[in-house]
Amino acid sequence: MNDMERHEYDVVVIGAGGAGLRAAIEANALGAKTAIVCKSLLGKAHTVMAEGGIAAALANVWKEDNWRVHFRDTMRGGKLLNNWRMAQLHAQEAPDRVLELEEWGALFDRTKDGLILQRDFGGHRYARLAHVGDRTGLEMIRTLQNHAVASGIDVFMECTLRHLLTDGGRVVGAVGYWRDSGRLIAFGAGAVVLATGGVGKAWRITSNSWEYTGDGIAMALEAGADLIDMEMTQFHPTGMVWPPSVRGLLVTEGVRGDGGTLKNSKGERFMFKYIPDFFRADTADTEEEADRWYEDKRNNRRTPDLLPRDEVARAINSEVKAGRGTEHGGVILDIASRRPADYIKRRLPSMYHQFKELADVDITKEAMEIGPTLHYIMGGIRVDADTEQTTVPGLYAAGEVAAGMHGANRLGGNSLSDLLVFGRRAGASAAEYAKRGATPRIDGTQLGQFADRIAEPFQRSGNENPYAVHSALQDTMQELVGIIRTRSELEEALVRVERLRARAARVRVTGTRRYNPGWHLALDLENLIGVSEAVTRSALLREESRGGHTREDFPKPDPRWGAQNVVARKRDGRLELVTEPIPTAPDELQRLIGDDKPSGEVAVAAAGGAE
Ligand SMILES: Cc1cc2nc3c(=O)[nH]c(=O)nc-3n(C[C@H](O)[C@H](O)[C@H](O)COP(=O)(O)OP(=O)(O)OC[C@H]3O[C@@H](n4cnc5c(N)ncnc54)[C@H](O)[C@@H]3O)c2cc1C
Repeated sequence: MNDMERHEYDVVVIGAGGAGLRAAIEANALGAKTAIVCKSLLGKAHTVMAEGGIAAALANVWKEDNWRVHFRDTMRGGKLLNNWRMAQLHAQEAPDRVLELEEWGALFDRTKDGLILQRDFGGHRYARLAHVGDRTGLEMIRTLQNHAVASGIDVFMECTLRHLLTDGGRVVGAVGYWRDSGRLIAFGAGAVVLATGGVGKAWRITSNSWEYTGDGIAMALEAGADLIDMEMTQFHPTGMVWPPSVRGLLVTEGVRGDGGTLKNSKGERFMFKYIPDFFRADTADTEEEADRWYEDKRNNRRTPDLLPRDEVARAINSEVKAGRGTEHGGVILDIASRRPADYIKRRLPSMYHQFKELADVDITKEAMEIGPTLHYIMGGIRVDADTEQTTVPGLYAAGEVAAGMHGANRLGGNSLSDLLVFGRRAGASAAEYAKRGATPRIDGTQLGQFADRIAEPFQRSGNENPYAVHSALQDTMQELVGIIRTRSELEEALVRVERLRARAARVRVTGTRRYNPGWHLALDLENLIGVSEAVTRSALLREESRGGHTREDFPKPDPRWGAQNVVARKRDGRLELVTEPIPTAPDELQRLIGDDKPSGEVAVAAAGGAE
């Protein structure tokens, strides 16, 4: 406590991905004294890894595109569990946010006429993703980062925040530690924006990096905020499966958007067997039709290889379970036989290098071996659609850490646009709140208790190893809370998570506070375990299959569940779960979603169910 570093800001943004940077830029522009805090180096957030593009109805490639169609696609892709207002704001504002990025210096790929080029992605009716080859996230982060730094926003990097500080139920700051020195640091703030991303590191096979340990979700839960729909986790259909060291690494959907097709070990284009009725009208039924679509974009139908991610991931899972998988438990993704080498290298340079360097596979000549990988969480912190305020005053959330926008399944490209649209809104609301609110008061006793908890792993008497506990958690979530779930497996997962919580409490770290990754993981473990419990309990409660949540024992969507959010909150130290009705969209928006939706239902192929 004595050597704790202290700072005061109007707005503290935790996280420097697209959502955090965009929020900070807006808060700062509105006159709020703003800080960005991030646990890795600036520029190293997940956003930088984004490959395929930013979804926005710019109508540069298809003049028929507009926000209404984007809204419809997002709602249908999300299996109607979305917060309709967020989906509406997102579709309406995404084009302006992309053009703003361009004004700030982002260089996108171009059409022949010099407009921003847009590519096809799963579940989008029209080619809609503004992109820079397969390195879109890099360009987005570069642009936002330059803009933020040039605006004079203070940045605290390699600094992990661990607890939110509260005063009378309002969030007034946060406390954490510098990763290099281990010194404690506390921020007093008029308002805090959480933009810490997801929780992929709770699973064994994931496209996510070390930073995704669910910190923001856990901090919000501890401060009393509501979470919604934590069971909605996205398994991206195409991650690398071989060699084992890179298992889970993402293979962009852009490969399929640019002509790649999926095949099983018998060489069959199996996706034609898995087209749900809900999407049949938009999807080619035969290989010939799909190929025509690829070659002639005027034929406005898409290949089933580009169905929404949940559909494709389940189909791959079924093929592998039915014995039609590859040697390493995946399926084939082939672009080499469909596109010339120079096209592949130009459109997918990162994929070319990724496979060449990590798997010794030349994707211009050979097929890729791929399988599902935990990629994204649609659930997260509940926010107000217009302001991004959480259910706790003074606390805002944007980006992957927040929920509602994507419903039961996120469409590719809709995350980067979500970060820009709702990051900006969160920053503006936080600045406004900080201006209006009373001066924040830090409770010294609470600060002291949090400081003790941060130091606690050094004082424990147990002998558990944090890496062993983390590894056991990843196995549990992978085996029991994966693509296909059942009651008995989820119950077993809960038992194991509780055991792991007890083991985590016995983790003792040695050495000093100077860069001590074992200590950092010991602290992250509490977040990973807390969020894993929320995911598992929510998955147990939702007795239906919808989007990213497939229950083998309830293989169909249930219209009653389709109208409910699963809400998780912490009261008296215990996780409480309830269901609450989702507000219904006004009639004019209902009409946009389409008449062909069977009362919120979608056809879901459970494991092996659609041979
Ligand atoms: C490989 C890959 C490719 C993708 N491609 C696309 C794509 O093409 N299009 C698309 O729309 N989406 C894509 N996504 C998804 C998208 O990139 C992410 O959902 C999005 O970038 C999340 O942004 P964010 O701002 O919410 O979080 P992030 O970009 O992950 O940023 C989180 C920030 O929070 C910080 N942080 C976390 N915990 C703490 C803490 N305790 N204290 C301080 N700081 C903390 C981190 O250091 C980081 O700065 C992809 C994801 C991956 C992994």
